[in-house]
Amino acid sequence: RAYNFNAGPSALPIEVLQKAQEEMVNYNNSGMSIMEMSHRSKDYEAVHNDAIARLRALYSIPDNYEVLFLQGGGSLQFTMVPMNFLGKEQTASYILTGSWSEKAIKEAKLFGQVQEAASTKENSYRNIPALEEIQFSETDAYVHITSNNTIYGTQWKEFPQTGAVPLIADMSSDILSKPVDVSNFGIIYAGAQKNLGPSGVTVVIIRKDLLEKANTNIPTMLKYSTHADSNSLYNTPPTFGIYMLGEVLKWVEEKGGLEAVEKNNEEKAKLIYDVIDNSNDFYRGHATPESRSLMNITFRVANEELEKQFLAEAKEAGFVGLNGHRSVGGCRASTYNAVPFETCKALAEFMIEFQNKHQ
Ligand code: PLP
Repeated sequence: RAYNFNAGPSALPIEVLQKAQEEMVNYNNSGMSIMEMSHRSKDYEAVHNDAIARLRALYSIPDNYEVLFLQGGGSLQFTMVPMNFLGKEQTASYILTGSWSEKAIKEAKLFGQVQEAASTKENSYRNIPALEEIQFSETDAYVHITSNNTIYGTQWKEFPQTGAVPLIADMSSDILSKPVDVSNFGIIYAGAQKNLGPSGVTVVIIRKDLLEKANTNIPTMLKYSTHADSNSLYNTPPTFGIYMLGEVLKWVEEKGGLEAVEKNNEEKAKLIYDVIDNSNDFYRGHATPESRSLMNITFRVANEELEKQFLAEAKEAGFVGLNGHRSVGGCRASTYNAVPFETCKALAEFMIEFQNKHQ
């Protein structure tokens, strides 16, 4: 297996891939792949409902929330959220912490008025704003955050308390990486292709009372209520992706659940952050230490030439996906749930070796 540090789609657990491989052409002795079955069949329905139940159990999702499996990625959620919950005369507060928040804001502006409740743009998105800096209004339709900033490598450690105003979080790049109190949120959404499974499924966890408050004069497929009313089977769902998601959820259970996964993620990220911190500025982390992400570790190498060389030598040594996002450059190691501890250790050792050789 490659040392896979891709930012997304990213590494999947080897055990899940192998199980899928075993079941690929003959699921549950049906003589068919799960991909070849009707989404109304008993076998598929069991997979679908099992995945929902497992996600509910892992997060202790309260009964007043629906779990939806949609399509269109995190990006369509940037549109669906304001389309459903923002009116022309209304305001929504967005906290600007990186490129994905920018994209979410751009869509919201098509539907209503957007207030920036806080922004770290001036600090090149190196940090998450302090909770006391956040200014939203009691009349806002909602407050929106990006829980983990995939490109800049920052992550919320503590979430804002927004009282009666629903808090909506794009958790595309840190869902399933740690325990989260779902009851603090109106909506959590995430594209699957980092911690949940293959691309093609989008998970939405939505509080039921919001479904009733949503705008009605919008396209059927873009209403959350359409999918909530039909158990995400209004149209053909991405059946294979949902099957894979179910298998990933079983894998997380086998690892000991979200607490255990978080502990493992902390240990993995520490290996690499420690190298950065002990490098005497040979490696420079982008994020301020208190805002560092456990999922995406962003850093620069001493100078441009050495950085190029670092990425080239890393590639040669079998490390995949270490280039920073094309919009910001630099280096990024994405250490999602499925990236093994040994893979992170190998990178940490490679970084030390590279420094010793080139300093
Ligand atoms: N939000 C975050 C935090 C992301 O990291 C990404 C993709 O990397 C997206 C949204 C966009 O997701 P998608 O490509 O599924 O539309």
